[in-house]
Amino acid sequence: MAEKNNAKQRYFTEELLRWHEQENDRSFPWQEDREPYKIWLSEIIMQQTRVAQGLPYYLRFIEKYPTLQLLADAADDEVFRLWQGLGYYNRCRNLLDTARAVRALHGGSFPKNYDGLRSLKGIGDYTAAAIASFAYDLPHAVVDGNVYRVLARYFGLELATDSHEGKKYFQTLASSLLPANHSAAYNQAIMDLGATVCTPKSPDCAACPLSKRCTARKEGTTTLLPVKQKKMAVKSRHFNYLLLMNREEYWVVKRKGKDIWQNLHEFFLIETPDSCTVQALMETEEWKVLQQGKAPKLLWQTQQRLTHQMIETRFFLVAYAGDRGLLPADGFWVPGKVLNKLAFPRTIVSFLEKKIYF
Ligand code: SF4
Repeated sequence: MAEKNNAKQRYFTEELLRWHEQENDRSFPWQEDREPYKIWLSEIIMQQTRVAQGLPYYLRFIEKYPTLQLLADAADDEVFRLWQGLGYYNRCRNLLDTARAVRALHGGSFPKNYDGLRSLKGIGDYTAAAIASFAYDLPHAVVDGNVYRVLARYFGLELATDSHEGKKYFQTLASSLLPANHSAAYNQAIMDLGATVCTPKSPDCAACPLSKRCTARKEGTTTLLPVKQKKMAVKSRHFNYLLLMNREEYWVVKRKGKDIWQNLHEFFLIETPDSCTVQALMETEEWKVLQQGKAPKLLWQTQQRLTHQMIETRFFLVAYAGDRGLLPADGFWVPGKVLNKLAFPRTIVSFLEKKIYF
């Protein structure tokens, strides 16, 4: 039995490497010179993002910040503005923190071993393994969604990939499959196979180099694997943005705290538990603070689905007649024509494009 398993594992690695060398034609700009900075930047940008969406961002970042030093020196707002539209803004915060930590602690060069990379804030197991193997060819197996899928299907594994036990098992299995001296090619191969052949919804088993020994193909379970233990609940949120306008200027503030859209700007926000009437909005404590007589005027409304939140957003115009001193001290007034110089979440950018700069 053990021998059969070993043969299955050997076949997996050998076929994968053969496919990579002879058939895999996927290539990306950050793979050309194996520079750790470019590999790291691409990994952070591509997390939870489709390549087609992330690639233009990578190219813009590399053009503007061709070195880690230039990124570390950049102003936060400038970097957030370049990131605008990509979502998951804590990744942008981590990007800056890591760049500055590498400059401060490592003289501007990434550590050349897994533990040194892993010790940096914003670099987890996956990113550390990716840099260690792609830049330095060190024997560390990457395990991302593509890898979970290929392994679960080929070996017919029903262990939940998001359970503690499952994560450990898949990591150990991936490491045991890593060929000596070819970790970069192997990691690239399995990720590319998952992205192009063994895809989530309709895997192309006929074109797959592993199909001869794939358990899921044989047992007809490709659509059932991999298994996840929990479905993420989607929370509904209701944002009411008030565009406080006074002397041709709008009041804006930078978002803080651990919530979504950290470090991006927004207008005066009243978050309500549901999609309330204007009358109910005017009864909130936040509205009362503004001491406005006139009802706000609805300009636009939209919805945005994030990974586990559905944000329903409404934009209201308020010709602000009150004392500017009543507003939170961390906000500021901006002339309408320079609003587009600030970094905003995608929902607000869409609103500005449709209703302010149309
Ligand atoms: S044979 Fe099909 S299910 Fe198995 S690894 Fe290949 S593409 Fe995935």
